[in-house]
Amino acid sequence: MSALSERIDGLIGSLAREEKLRLVRGDRDPEGTATGFVPGVPRLDIPALRLVDGPLGIRIEGERTTAFPASIAAAATFDPALVKRQGAALAREATAHGQDVLLAPALNLIRVPQCGRIFEYYAEDPILTARFAASAVEGIQSESVIATPKHYVANNQETDRPTVSAEVGERALRELYLPGFHDAVTAGARAVMTAYNRVNGIHMSDHHTLVTEVLKEEWDFPGFAVSDWWGTASTVGAATGGLDLEMPGMPPEGFTGIEEGDADALLAGAGTAAPGLLAPVARGLPDPSTSGRFGKPLEEAIEAGEVPEERLDDMVARILGAMEWAGRLDGERGEGALDTAEHRQLARELAARGIVLLENDGILPLAADASVALIGPNVDEVTVGGGGSSETEPFAPVTTAEGIRRRAEGPVTVAQGLPRITTPSFFDLIMGRSTPGQAGGEPDLEAAGDVAASADVAVVVVRDWMTEGADKDSLALPGDQDDLVRAVAAANDRTVVVVQSGGPVELPWRDDVAAVLEAWYPGQADGAALASVLYGDIDASGRLPVTFAEEDQYPTSDPEAFPGEGGEVHYHEGVFVGYRHFDAAGIDPMYPFGHGESFASVRYRDAAVADERRVGVTLENESSRVAREVVQAYVRAPQGRMDRPIRELAGFVSVDLQPGERVTAEVGLDERSFAYWDGGWTIEPGTYTVEIGRSSRDPRLRREVER
Ligand code: BGC
Repeated sequence: MSALSERIDGLIGSLAREEKLRLVRGDRDPEGTATGFVPGVPRLDIPALRLVDGPLGIRIEGERTTAFPASIAAAATFDPALVKRQGAALAREATAHGQDVLLAPALNLIRVPQCGRIFEYYAEDPILTARFAASAVEGIQSESVIATPKHYVANNQETDRPTVSAEVGERALRELYLPGFHDAVTAGARAVMTAYNRVNGIHMSDHHTLVTEVLKEEWDFPGFAVSDWWGTASTVGAATGGLDLEMPGMPPEGFTGIEEGDADALLAGAGTAAPGLLAPVARGLPDPSTSGRFGKPLEEAIEAGEVPEERLDDMVARILGAMEWAGRLDGERGEGALDTAEHRQLARELAARGIVLLENDGILPLAADASVALIGPNVDEVTVGGGGSSETEPFAPVTTAEGIRRRAEGPVTVAQGLPRITTPSFFDLIMGRSTPGQAGGEPDLEAAGDVAASADVAVVVVRDWMTEGADKDSLALPGDQDDLVRAVAAANDRTVVVVQSGGPVELPWRDDVAAVLEAWYPGQADGAALASVLYGDIDASGRLPVTFAEEDQYPTSDPEAFPGEGGEVHYHEGVFVGYRHFDAAGIDPMYPFGHGESFASVRYRDAAVADERRVGVTLENESSRVAREVVQAYVRAPQGRMDRPIRELAGFVSVDLQPGERVTAEVGLDERSFAYWDGGWTIEPGTYTVEIGRSSRDPRLRREVER
C-alpha cells in the first residue's frame, strides 16, 4: 500500500485498540438507512461510514430511487460512457440519502446462463465487463462516493454460494474472471467486496493469494476489502488473508439463531411458501449465525499473536484512507440529488439503448397509426429488476402499456385476464410472504388470439423472473408464455415479441413471429423506453453481451460444471466461456454474442490498422434513418503453442451517423488484445487478424497485424 498520509498515520497513533476494532466491524445504523454501517470515533472527529446497495438504484426501505435498468441491459448499449453518467447519478442519490459507499458495480462474469444474478452483471466477455466496470467506478467516484466493485471473485452462481468452491485454473482466472476487477481497481475503486464462495478451496474472505497478493500487492489497491454480508468465513484466516471490514458484523434484527451451517433452518416457519421454492433460495443464503468474526474474536486472536497488531492498523488505515479520499474526514459531503430530470432521462436512455432487436422481418419500426393489440401477463406493471439486494422502488415508473399508449397514434387494445407472472421481492420470498410463479389459473389463449386478430399488429410482452439467492432451473419462459406467443402468432402474422428477461431464455417460436426484441429488466422507464424503439424514435442499437443458445449447448450443462457436486464446481471449460465456447465447439447459437439488428443500414469500408494500438474503419450510413452503429473488433491469434479461442473481443465503439453520413471510427487495442496468460501475460510473435464487424459472427472487414 502506498505511504499513509500524515493525518492517517496520526490517527492510527491516537486510536485505542478498542476503537480500531470497532472501525473494522459493522454495527447497527442508528438512522436505519444504511445497508452497512461503521460507527465513527467522535473523540477524534472520525464520522460514521454508511454503505448502501446497490448497482441499479439506491435500496433503502421505504425510499424511492431512480430505478435504472439491469446492468446486462446497460452493457447491451456497448457504450460505457452511459454507465459513467449512471454511476454519477447513483452517487448523487446515495449522497442525498446520507450514504458514503455504494455497493456497486456488480461485475461477475456471466459464466452460467441460469445464474440468478446475471441481470446485475455485465457480460460473458472480460473486456466488455472491464470497460463497463471501470466506467461505473469512475462515475460513482466522480461524486466523491466510494465505489465497491463486487463480488471478488468467481461468484458465478447462486446455488450454494456461501460454501461452493469454484475450482478454476489460473489462466481462466486471469483471462476471464479477474480483468473486470483489475480495471475497476485501476480506475481508482476505494473498496472491493469479497465474494461468498470459495475459490480453489479457500473462502474469498480469507483468500490471501487473491486478496493480499493479487488485489493489494500486484494491483496496488489502496482501498479496503469488505466482506459480503455474513460472508466472513473465519477470524484469523480473514484478518491475515487481507479482509479489512466485516459486514454487517451482526445477525439481522430479531434473529434468534440457527444451527451452524443450516440455511434451511433459517426458512423454517416461512409461512405459506412451498418448500420446493424456498429450498433453492435457502441454498444460496448466507448463514447469519457466522456473524461476528471480527470484534471480540479478533481482539483475542491479536492477543494470542495469531493476527499481528499491524494488520489491524492496516485495516483501519485502508478504511480511513478511503474516507479521507472522499473528503469525509473533513466533514465534506455534497448535497446530492434525487429524481432529477437528468436522472430520469438517463434511466430511459439506458433502457432504450440496451434493447436488442433480435429479429425483424421489416415490421419494425411500427407505423404510428397502426392499431396495436398489447398482450402479456404483466403489461400493466413495470419490470423494474430482479430480486435481491439490487431491488429498487422507482420514482417515476412507466408501465409497459402506459408507455405504448402514450406513443401510439392508433388504438391500443390491452388483452385482459392473463394470469400474472408473479415477481416477488426476495425479502418477501424468504419471509414466506410471496411466491414466484403464475397466479390466477390458465390463460385464455383463445381470447388473446381474438384480441390479436383484431389489430394491425400484435405486441406480446413475455418475461422471466430471476433473483439473487437462487439459480433458474430452466431457460424456458415461466408459465404458459410460450403457448401464449404461439396462440397470438397463429392469430396475427404481424406479431412482435418483446422479451423482458434477466439473461438468455429459450425462444422456441422465434421463427414464427415477425420480430423479437430483448428488453431485459428495463427499470422505471419500461414502457417509455420500449416505445421509443418500437416506433423507431431511435435506432435499435443494443447488442447482446451474452450468447443466446439452447440450454444444453452451454459448456456448463453438466452437473460438475454447474451447479457442482460435492461442494465443488469445476470450471473445466477453462477460458472457453460464452462465445469462446460456441466458436470452438462449432455451434451456431440461437443468437451470437454481439448480435443486434438495427433499423438503419451501415456499410463498413476501408478498414486500416493504424498501428498495433488502433484500428480505424470508415462507416457509411446508406439508409435514410439516423443510425447508431456498434463497431466490434475481435482479434484472432495465429496458431501457437496454446489452445486459444478462435476470436476475442479487443475493443468496440458506438457511433452515431446521420442519413448518408460517412464517419471514420477508431477502436483502441491494447496488449491484452493479443496476449494470453501463462504465468504472466505473453504475446506470441506472429500474424494476428483483426476482424471488424457487427457481431462475433458477422465480420465485415479483416486486417492483419504483426506482433
Ligand atoms: C449481496 C451483496 C449486497 C449485500 C448487502 C449480499 O447478499 O451479495 O451484493 O451488497 O448482500 O445487501
